[in-house]
Amino acid sequence: MSKFQRIRGMRDFLPSDAAKLRHIEAATRDVAGLYGFAEIITPLIEHYDLLAVKSGEEIKTRMYVFNDLGGRKIALRPEFTASIARLMATTLRNEPKPLRLFSTGTLYRYDEPQFGRYREFWQSNYEIFGSKRPEADAEILSLTHQLMRKLEVQKFWLKMGDVGILRGLLTEEEVEEERQNRILQLLDAKRWEDALKTAKSFKVSTKGITTLKKIFAIKDRDPSKVLQKTMKVLKDYESGVNAVENLEEIVNLCKRSSDEMDILVEPRFARGLEYYTGMIFEVFVPEMDISLGGGGRYDKLVEMFGGESTPAVGVAHGLDRISLALEKQNTPQKILRQVVALVPIGEKAVPKAVELASQLRKRGIHVEMEIMGRTVSRALQDADRREASHAIIMGPKEIAEKKVMLRDLRTRQQRLIDIQELFKTLER
Ligand code: AMP
Repeated sequence: MSKFQRIRGMRDFLPSDAAKLRHIEAATRDVAGLYGFAEIITPLIEHYDLLAVKSGEEIKTRMYVFNDLGGRKIALRPEFTASIARLMATTLRNEPKPLRLFSTGTLYRYDEPQFGRYREFWQSNYEIFGSKRPEADAEILSLTHQLMRKLEVQKFWLKMGDVGILRGLLTEEEVEEERQNRILQLLDAKRWEDALKTAKSFKVSTKGITTLKKIFAIKDRDPSKVLQKTMKVLKDYESGVNAVENLEEIVNLCKRSSDEMDILVEPRFARGLEYYTGMIFEVFVPEMDISLGGGGRYDKLVEMFGGESTPAVGVAHGLDRISLALEKQNTPQKILRQVVALVPIGEKAVPKAVELASQLRKRGIHVEMEIMGRTVSRALQDADRREASHAIIMGPKEIAEKKVMLRDLRTRQQRLIDIQELFKTLER
């Protein structure tokens, strides 16, 4: 056995896995087009300092960091948003708004490998810059819904919240931002009791703690009921109330965009990344307790990277996790191979077969040329195994008649046809 092993947390995508992933990726690109997003491609590596600006403690400690030969401290990107914020603060600074940008590719985090958590994983990332209006938030939620539908993910829901609910309360309780982040991180880890204890230690009033407890307890499948209850509980905290109203507007627009959108509002919901300033959301399916995607609004991000103050809202979908969800739900992800095996009989037929392969490919037909010099029956067995749709068999006899044998590998029927008819049949 070779001494060379794959690096822990990394995966090889063999053809059928690669096809599934690329199928999902193609859908993310289609959805980008449907919603007017233009693709941008940014480097896989960035200066460590850029990526560390606002990734949140969680991610910062999990980056792949190294020095390059020029002595620069470099990291593999753990997310797309920092690279895009860098562009917004530099090259794209004066671009007319709104800007709708889409990226897809691999990201790297030194997480503990487990189900749905890898050290190299794929995301599709969509961001809108320049609009602080709820329509922009609704577009991001709507495209997420559309992507899941397109890929036939079943029974998914969008869990929504707004960091303004808790930040509003904590700000009015005079808890400074850094301390708010610590409380939100505990909530993200679902450590409710620890979050309350920490809030107490930061001198949040008894009324504030009671309000927090009430917020943590609000649960209902009906978004409007949750929003009403939250509004009532928060009535003495004006900026908290504003956040609830904003969330309500977004939820209403989402319902307009599709009444099939399954929304679960949870006022205590927080997300790991510190840069969120408004609506936040994650996508779930019943079969998995980890999210398929997540996003929200981050109006201060571009500023943090030295750019102009620019409102922004976005989402990142985990392509690997979408694939896992489809697998769990037994949704067929089999990509039909539209490939034709071309088998010459005997060496004399090879040059003619090469010629025909070329003519077929010019017409956009995918051809797997027999390149092993095998007998027809061996070559056909292999074509079957490789799930080719047809085989073209041509020997001296067929060539003399300017014909080929076309065999449908699914029905096992075969017939002798001339070349023009072959083209017509396969182009169909
Ligand atoms: P985040 O960038 O942390 O907001 O994550 C957005 C989405 O990326 C998640 O909902 C997951 O689908 C996916 N994701 C994040 N971390 C990983 C990972 N280590 N492995 C696979 N997918 C991930």
